[in-house]
Amino acid sequence: MPFDGWLRGRLNEVKAAGLYRKLRTMETAPQPEMIVDGQKQIVFSSNNYLGLANDKRVIQAAMKTLNQFGVGSSGSRLTTGNSGWHQKLEKRIADFKQTEAALLFSSGYLANIGVLSSLPGKGDVILSDQYNHASIIDGCRLSRAETLIYQHVDMEDLEKKLTDTACFQRRFIVTDGVFSMDGTIAPLDRIIELANRYEAHVIVDDAHATGVVGKNGRGTSECFGVLPDVVIGTLSKAAGTEGGFAAGSHAFIDFLINHARTFIFQTAIPPSSCAAAYVAFGLMEQEREKRQLLHSNIKKVKAGLREMGYQVKGDDTAIIPVIIGKEGTAVAFSKKLQEKGIYAPAIRPPTVPAGESRIRLTVTADHHAKEIEYLLEVFDFIGRELRIIK
Ligand SMILES: *Cc1c(COP(=O)(O)O)cnc(C)c1O
Repeated sequence: MPFDGWLRGRLNEVKAAGLYRKLRTMETAPQPEMIVDGQKQIVFSSNNYLGLANDKRVIQAAMKTLNQFGVGSSGSRLTTGNSGWHQKLEKRIADFKQTEAALLFSSGYLANIGVLSSLPGKGDVILSDQYNHASIIDGCRLSRAETLIYQHVDMEDLEKKLTDTACFQRRFIVTDGVFSMDGTIAPLDRIIELANRYEAHVIVDDAHATGVVGKNGRGTSECFGVLPDVVIGTLSKAAGTEGGFAAGSHAFIDFLINHARTFIFQTAIPPSSCAAAYVAFGLMEQEREKRQLLHSNIKKVKAGLREMGYQVKGDDTAIIPVIIGKEGTAVAFSKKLQEKGIYAPAIRPPTVPAGESRIRLTVTADHHAKEIEYLLEVFDFIGRELRIIK
C-alpha cells in the first residue's frame, strides 16, 4: 500500500513533533457537564457562551421549521435554496449589528474566505494581524491582493505598514474582534482612526465577540462605538447554531452576492437553522442577565487563577488562556485535568509562540458556581504538583 505508507510516514512526522490530533466523542448535548469518550467531564472549552445551543426555545424554532420546510435547502441561494427564513434572519443580523444589510454563508470560515477572496483584488494590499484566525489567513491566500502581517494589536507597526503601502491601489485592514487563542480585544477605535487617516477599509471578524462583548452583545463595534466597513461573524459560537455571515452596506452585500464564490457556489444552510438562529439573536439581545452571568463567571475564574499566581492573558472575553510554559507541561496539565473530570485543551506551537503553551479555558453563562469552584480547586492542586505555582 504505497499510498497509505506515504500517509503513515507523514503522520509519524506529526506524532514525532508531539502535534498529533485525534477526535473525541461527545455523547451528550452541549452543556457544562458532558459525557466525553464515556467519561463524565465538566467542559471548559465550549463556544456555547450563552447556552443557546441547547436552549429549548431555539430547538423548538428549528423543529417547527424542519417540519414545514424539510431538512435541506436543495440549492444555492441564487438557485432554489433561498427561503423567507434566510432573508428574515439576514434582516435580524443587520439589525443586531446595526448595519444596512447582512448576507448568510454556510459558516464563518466560508464568510471570511468569500469576502477576502473577492473584495481586495490585484493591486491591493491586506494588512492582517499576526494572530488572526486560520480562515482569515486562508482568505488572504486566496485573494489576488498582497498580504502584510502586522504585530499583534500593535498600532505603531500597523501605522508603519500603512505608511509603507501608499503605492497600493486600495488598502484593507483585517482583524479578529476577539482573538481566539489570546482572548484579547482588537483596539477597533484606533484601527478605524488609522484607517480613516490612511484611507484604508476595515474588516472585523467578530466570531467570539458577538453575544459576548458590548452592552447589548453586538460585538466590538458596540464596545468602541464605531462601525467598520465590514463585520464578519458566525452563528456557531454564542448564537449556538450553525452558519456564518458578513454585514455592511447594501452595496457591499450586493457586491458579495455577485462576486463571493463561497456564497454563489454553495448550498444554502437549511431554513431550520435560520429559524433557530433568528430566535437565538433575539435571546442574545433580550436576555441581558445571561450575559451578566457569563461575565461574572469570567471574572471569578480569572481572579481565582491570578490569585493563585497563574499568568492569565486576555481582555474581558470568555476566552481565558492560562500560560503554562513548556509544551510537554501543558499537555501533562491537560491530561491531569481530564483525569479529574475537567475538559480543557492544551494549545501548543505553532498555534501559539514557543514557551507560551497554555491551557485555553472558555466559560459559559451556564457554568454553576460549584463547577467554577471545582475548576479552581483542581487548578490549585495540579499547579502545585507540576510546580507552576507555589
Ligand atoms: C470560529 C471562528 C471562525 C469560523 O467560524 P465557523 O462558523 O465555525 O466556520 C472564524 N473566525 C474566527 C475568529 C473564529 O473564532
